[in-house]
Amino acid sequence: IDGTPEQQEAMTALHHEFNVTTQRARTIVQQFVEEMEKGLDHEGATVPMIPSFVTGRPTGQEKGKYLALDLGGTNLRVCEFELKGDGDFSVHQQKYVVAEELKTGDMRHLCDFIADCVDNFITEFGSHHVDHSIQLGFTFSFAVNQTDINRGTLMHWTKGFNCTNAIHKDVVVLLQDAFLRKNVQVHVAALVNDTVGTLMANAYRYPKTSMGIILGTGTNAAYYEKLGKIKKWKGAEQVFDEMVINMEWGTFDLERRVLPFTIYDNKLDRESINPRKQLFEKMISGMYLGEITRNVILQLVDERILFSGESSADLNKQWGFETAYLSTMVVDDTPQLDHVRHILEETLQIPSTTHGDRQVVKEIAIAVGRRAARLSACGVAGVLLHTGDIHTGADIAIDGSVYEHFPHFEKYMVETLQELYGQDIANQVRFSLARDGSGFGAAMIAMMAHKAS
Ligand code: ADP
Repeated sequence: IDGTPEQQEAMTALHHEFNVTTQRARTIVQQFVEEMEKGLDHEGATVPMIPSFVTGRPTGQEKGKYLALDLGGTNLRVCEFELKGDGDFSVHQQKYVVAEELKTGDMRHLCDFIADCVDNFITEFGSHHVDHSIQLGFTFSFAVNQTDINRGTLMHWTKGFNCTNAIHKDVVVLLQDAFLRKNVQVHVAALVNDTVGTLMANAYRYPKTSMGIILGTGTNAAYYEKLGKIKKWKGAEQVFDEMVINMEWGTFDLERRVLPFTIYDNKLDRESINPRKQLFEKMISGMYLGEITRNVILQLVDERILFSGESSADLNKQWGFETAYLSTMVVDDTPQLDHVRHILEETLQIPSTTHGDRQVVKEIAIAVGRRAARLSACGVAGVLLHTGDIHTGADIAIDGSVYEHFPHFEKYMVETLQELYGQDIANQVRFSLARDGSGFGAAMIAMMAHKAS
């Protein structure tokens, strides 16, 4: 970069601080494998490794109309899927905005709101006959201690949700009660984590899919595990030999042993609504990458390395720097970095920026995103090492805006796997973007559960 000597020095230091070296990646992977094994062995481990009660694989011949409801991302989504057999389906979808006060208010109000949305959807768009109750797959993308295919208690909130009267309660019972209160003829047939839904949806098309990952507002992963390896499984003797595990991998490194925390991560964590929790997620997912970047920029402003020491009200605001800006800045190839300038000067109202300032900010965005990708790859490597798929190859479905939009995210992941295990092995791992797959997966799981009941 052609900034001042101080800017160049700061950039070198930041690239160093945000780099996940191959050696560090190895240590993280090793710890990942250990934590997975603990989670499969007993309750209360750092990485919970939750049995999903999803055992079969889809055949592609499934038929019928099913509802899917998705809570836990940016919007509440209601979908109606018509499975037509032969791998074919059609979908109608509607999004509803969840107000901030609902995210942190009484859980009963949130459930009433959801029931109203579903009611609205059925009335406006649904093609079901309402003379019998409609089967619904509920994608609830939070840490749930699943006790049956449609039963599970909430362990803790993440991603900015913090409703009262919900922890340790069965979220399906709470939602089903709201449907009853509102006289909405819907039966919650399956409670599904979005990672599990993503995995199942992709498996419908690519039967060898063994893992589903979310890299969106939050991050998490699910994979097919041999029942014999789920030591803590207390269910009756079963006719199946594998079950999908919802890892809840965002909790990884609660003990702060191996992740490369910086002062910017610590600041974010301290000021978050869940300090000392979800530490892996806070380095990787969309909710946080903008805020980490903001912290770095502000530090450099205070050192008078950026913007002649001038900040702005917008930049000073917590969460004021969106993760989407990172992607926009990183793809900016204009000579004067016009898109970076637009975000800094127009959107964030910083009085003026030099070309050097803009280059530094772009470099910060690259460093933060690249670190997220390399850490995600460590999680993937941990799972593949544990299952043994590292030797045979794997199909992995990934959903989420961070993976989809941050430039070269997949390339950075693949590079990390190559450094760890060599080209041949890394080339056998196939990532595919499974956009909005979780709803379809949830509808399919609802169908499988309904047929089995
Ligand atoms: P969900 O909320 O269901 O996970 P997404 O997968 O769209 O939905 O993820 C939303 C997250 O992705 C938000 O945290 C947002 O900041 C981030 N995001 C949105 N657009 C982009 C982008 N272009 N590049 C990187 N991150 C983005």
